[in-house]
Amino acid sequence: MKPTRVLKIDPQHIATVLIHEAADVLRAGGLVAFPTETVYGLGANALDAQAVRGIFAAKERPGYDPLIVHLAGAESLAEVACRVPPVALMLAERFWPGPLTLVLPRGPRIPPEVTAGGETVAVRVPAHPVAQALIRAAGVPVAAPSANRFGRLSPTRAEDVLADLDGRIDLLLDGGPTPVGVESTVLSLVTPRPTILRPGGVSRESLELLLGRVEVLAQPVRPQEVAPSPGTLSQHYAPRAKLILYEGPRDALLAALRKEALRLHGAGARVGLFLASEDLPFFEGLPLIMRAAGPARDLETVARQLFTTLRALDEAGVEVILARDFGAAGLGLAVRDRLTRAAGGKVVRVT
Ligand code: AMP
Ligand code: MG
Repeated sequence: MKPTRVLKIDPQHIATVLIHEAADVLRAGGLVAFPTETVYGLGANALDAQAVRGIFAAKERPGYDPLIVHLAGAESLAEVACRVPPVALMLAERFWPGPLTLVLPRGPRIPPEVTAGGETVAVRVPAHPVAQALIRAAGVPVAAPSANRFGRLSPTRAEDVLADLDGRIDLLLDGGPTPVGVESTVLSLVTPRPTILRPGGVSRESLELLLGRVEVLAQPVRPQEVAPSPGTLSQHYAPRAKLILYEGPRDALLAALRKEALRLHGAGARVGLFLASEDLPFFEGLPLIMRAAGPARDLETVARQLFTTLRALDEAGVEVILARDFGAAGLGLAVRDRLTRAAGGKVVRVT
């Protein structure tokens, strides 16, 4: 197995030669991992079924889980969708480039490999300058799921991509850590009312300012039930350690977390806590491994640090992670979604 080539690229001063090299790999049917503003993506030419199959092989991703197609701008929508409703253009105007994915009726040029055989296609325009430059230079729509092995934590740094995919992909553009840190919001526009299939970097509230009421798909969905959004499997985005999520008012939540952590520790387990920064003093001096994702009122930081914090707990060798919830407002909903999936649905509600 040939090690993956890594090209360091400065997002502020993009070296055109590097972009052209990566674009050539994409056009030749190869696989390129690149930074987006959400997480690192693993890209292939979305019009090349063979190349797209390569993504599934590299990630060990099951064929029923469709890919997001990335465009350089909304003007390319007609290349991938057969019908673009006015609401899609309005959302594109407001949120693109950015972490919003729209589910639209599939255009005839998109092979079934991309959409898992379905008649809809998920599309977005990423805001990261490296992603933008790469897609433009490639001149084709780029299918790109997150650049991790299926079911694992999403990669927010180049080293995370290598840890999962070294030797399995042709090229990695290392543009440093990704600024948003959670995946895009997936919004279906083929349902009677706009429906969030996966909460992400664009909040429900900001969508509702534009659209009025937006539904949120009830989760989690079983692996066998393919529709409506296969990425919404209950066990997903998971650290190696077993994770349990605690929801409820802060004081009661922290007390319950502390009690359970000490019980597990007493039973011989290596216990990790996933916390807000201001929670740390509450556990001072206890034999627990603690990591904070950020202050609870700064959800942007918490979202950005979510996956690296979970990775840090895995790297510290914990067997169990007890995680606190960060609420459902703003980016909190995306954080809750990822933690709930990492927990495989094991959520403790304290009152
Ligand atoms: P990833 O890029 O790895 O975060 O995965 C992309 C996710 O987007 C999938 O797992 C699905 O949840 C969602 N998705 C992609 N295409 C569609 C589609 N046509 N309909 C509904 N959801 C989709
Ligand atoms: Mg993914």
